[in-house]
Amino acid sequence: MATHKPSIVVVGSGMGGVETAASLANHLNGEAKITMVSETSELELRPFNIYPAFSNVFKKRRLTHLPLAASAAKRGIEFQTWHVDEIDTDQQAIRSNGRSLNYDHLVIATGAGMRPDEIPGYSENSDTFWAYSDSMKMAKSVEQMVANAKRGQRQHVLLNVAPNNKCAGPMYEIVFMLESYLRRKKVRDMFELTYTTAEEHYIQAFGPKLHEAASKGLDRVGITGHTEYRMTHLEPNKAHFDNGETIDFDFMIGFPPYVAHTNFESLPTDDRGFIHADKENWKVRGHENVYVVGDGGDFPVKQAFLALGMAGTVAHNIANEVKKKPVTNVFDPVSMCIMEQFDAGLYAQVPLSIQDDPDKPIVTMRPGADDDYVVRRSRLWQMGKWGMYMTMVWQMGRMHTFHEGGIWTAMDIAIQGMQKLPSK
Ligand SMILES: Cc1cc2nc3c(=O)[nH]c(=O)nc-3n(C[C@H](O)[C@H](O)[C@H](O)COP(=O)(O)OP(=O)(O)OC[C@H]3O[C@@H](n4cnc5c(N)ncnc54)[C@H](O)[C@@H]3O)c2cc1C
Repeated sequence: MATHKPSIVVVGSGMGGVETAASLANHLNGEAKITMVSETSELELRPFNIYPAFSNVFKKRRLTHLPLAASAAKRGIEFQTWHVDEIDTDQQAIRSNGRSLNYDHLVIATGAGMRPDEIPGYSENSDTFWAYSDSMKMAKSVEQMVANAKRGQRQHVLLNVAPNNKCAGPMYEIVFMLESYLRRKKVRDMFELTYTTAEEHYIQAFGPKLHEAASKGLDRVGITGHTEYRMTHLEPNKAHFDNGETIDFDFMIGFPPYVAHTNFESLPTDDRGFIHADKENWKVRGHENVYVVGDGGDFPVKQAFLALGMAGTVAHNIANEVKKKPVTNVFDPVSMCIMEQFDAGLYAQVPLSIQDDPDKPIVTMRPGADDDYVVRRSRLWQMGKWGMYMTMVWQMGRMHTFHEGGIWTAMDIAIQGMQKLPSK
């Protein structure tokens, strides 16, 4: 008698989805049918979207968009390209116009999106860098501001993190990269740069050491910074904040409010469409065989590194369920990032803890984990970032795991060693 091969479906081909499918393939080795369904046949490496404005190399789309179908086939993963509209948890099926696919285990990795229109005037009067197309548009504005400066025009650039943005780090990269870039172009003295954020502290989710590093950094390069500046609306060349302040500007670069990329009505979500799940195993609340990984879940901070950790936990636990072994893997929310500053990299390892008010989870620094909370800045960390990026492209482009296996173990040892070196 033929035995039923469990069907595992992963929806979404971002970093969370690819890491999950690759990890499942590692663990299961043909014991289950793995299918990835995504509205795009590529992996868009969002972290690279900070670069096109400052580097012609990164204007080449193919560097940051990795085609997946052929690599998936090599790993025994079926790849289907379509947009999933509906999840029918009773029938265990995902659907869209006329298409349907059944699952035994479902992993949703559909990520986040931007909703700039929550702030009237935001879309029309600012640039951003969420998607590659946004970054290319922002690159034109940066080109324009440099050209204006070369003609002798003084300009004010406003940089802003909006309320309900869930990933402030990349905006800090843009701030420091823009400042370095203007210096390189020898026009820095023609610019006033002002940074405003809705957060109470700079890079709030990552604690006091990052706030201090960001404050020092802004002072060092002569950028005026304001926290708790919640933008309410934008007119052409004028921003309004809820504390009554207004700021006039020539160009604005903003990071808008986040929402879920796709809102699935059959699943429990918060008011932005982020799916409620158990923070230890990323099982969707009330559903035994549906999981969420990455930006689409209700973890309050959205970050690729956290998405990779969730992917590892979910893949490990599904594989053990398939193999009828104990399901033991627990997600450990330790964030890690290296922020590009052009003349250095700012590294942070941040152990987080979640106060899981089921409807409004809050992330805080993990009490008593001071030794593991590390912030460093040096050229070496910038080189480390590039080493990591190249490895990510190599591994994920072939649909291999980035965050598990021998290569990651070696990188992790190097990172732990580098942490012992002082900041420069
Ligand atoms: C400029 C920038 C820089 C960043 N830098 C860093 C960094 O240095 N370090 C870091 O850790 N994080 C960084 N991040 C955050 C990181 O990019 C995200 O956390 C990460 O991409 C989330 O991965 P994901 O798989 O959850 O979602 P996504 O990458 O958004 O992928 C979602 C996928 O699902 C697909 N999809 C969505 N809805 C459907 C549907 N209904 N049907 C089918 N397919 C669907 C999408 O097309 C996409 O393929 C950065 C983000 C930005 C914008």
